[in-house]
Amino acid sequence: MSVEKVLQTIKDNNIEWVDFRFVDLGGRAHHITLPAAAVEEETFENGVAFDGSSIAGFRGIEESDMVMMPDPSATYIDPFTAHPTLNVMCDIFTPDGERYDRDPRGIAIKAEEYLQKSGIGTAAFFAPESEFFIFDDVRYESGMNTSFYSVDSEEAAWNTARKEEGGNLGFKVDVKGGYVPVAPVDTQQDIRSEMCRLLAEAGLVIERHHHEVATAGQAEINFRFDTLKKTADNLLTYKYIVHNTARQYGKVATFMPKPLFGDNGSGMHVHQSIFNGSEPLFYEKGAYANLSEMALHYIGGILYHAPALIALTNPSTNSFKRLVPGYEAPVNLVFSKGNRSAAIRIPVAAVTPKGCRIEFRTPDSTANPYLSFSAMLLAGLDGIKKKINPVELGYGPLDKNIYELPDAEKAKIRSVPGSLNEALDALEGDYEFLTEGGVFSKDFIDNYIALKRGEAQAVAIRVHPHEYSLYFDV
Ligand code: GLN
Ligand code: MG
Ligand code: MG
Ligand code: MG
Repeated sequence: MSVEKVLQTIKDNNIEWVDFRFVDLGGRAHHITLPAAAVEEETFENGVAFDGSSIAGFRGIEESDMVMMPDPSATYIDPFTAHPTLNVMCDIFTPDGERYDRDPRGIAIKAEEYLQKSGIGTAAFFAPESEFFIFDDVRYESGMNTSFYSVDSEEAAWNTARKEEGGNLGFKVDVKGGYVPVAPVDTQQDIRSEMCRLLAEAGLVIERHHHEVATAGQAEINFRFDTLKKTADNLLTYKYIVHNTARQYGKVATFMPKPLFGDNGSGMHVHQSIFNGSEPLFYEKGAYANLSEMALHYIGGILYHAPALIALTNPSTNSFKRLVPGYEAPVNLVFSKGNRSAAIRIPVAAVTPKGCRIEFRTPDSTANPYLSFSAMLLAGLDGIKKKINPVELGYGPLDKNIYELPDAEKAKIRSVPGSLNEALDALEGDYEFLTEGGVFSKDFIDNYIALKRGEAQAVAIRVHPHEYSLYFDV
């Protein structure tokens, strides 16, 4: 959409407020709202000022003035405000008119430019499957919600799902029993449908929605793939609409990767492919999983860089509580046609040449989509440039049941990092693929690692409920 069209949209819809938004390092959206009457063509040329020093991970207090530059092609009418409001996504610039090198959306723009300059393809497409839980929102009822983090066993996960204390012997759907049973077992069809209606109004193309495997109200909504930056914008809209629809229903939605011990966590599998114009570059009929050599090298790049990459695709301490065996979350750094414990799966059922893609299953929705999509693309492009062959390096393909492999074979399989700190260690030692073409700056990476080390430390120094079970009565 052009600036002219945005101004027309404001008029046509009697918009009263224009909400300018940017995203921080953690992937949270922030906003400043201007009266629609004050928004004119110059607003798009001069931008909207804000204080960068108050945003975690951004600038120091001594150089705090920053400018949001609105992107007229990234707007939608907010479905939740009482006063008609148009939301506009922005890029961040310094007062000197330079792109701010810590702006995640700016990094996504640079990653797309880097792909085009590389001559490998014209566009990379992304489609995330961002899972989440819808819980009863007791924060506003009792002032404090302790039920989610006191859960420490499968039994307790059941009880939390049903708000029961003690042993109720009535019929219960087992943990991991949530995958697609109809109502009344599925109590959230209407709320998911409402989320989808609002998402479609905001411009996302909805493909489907369903209850996910975890019993306690886990959901998934799929929307159509798009280019890197556009998909990251869509994911921000997705989270905003999911969170706020839940709020309207008196519920709370969370994308936290592992809110309940003992049941499935929430992932964000990311489907990816590269095109040259309208030509899909990942397809080769008759090859393993119909994958072209380029696709294979892309996989090689992702798996080779995975330990470091995961610092950006799984950037929370909680992320690593999901990446454990037994819950359909990947732990093995291998690729496979069908194996859901593999980090990369190649969907083969009903896939056309244009639909041929890889699915990286490790990420979760605590990832900042601009940073994580960019980092995945850069890892894959590094694989293509260096012809990293995942088969030669022992990353598969592995279509057998991993648990039935002989011990010597099993020992060769590499695993995802076990903690945020381990992933950050890996990133410290392997970041050059990210600074290629100046997409991420070294300063960005150092600052990011410091920010995330702080989170890991904040969690490590706190007393954990399970320590009481282990040590209280010793
Ligand atoms: N929830 C699983 C995960 O953590 C995925 C389940 C699925 O989509 N099959 O990745
Ligand atoms: Mg899915
Ligand atoms: Mg799923
Ligand atoms: Mg999937």
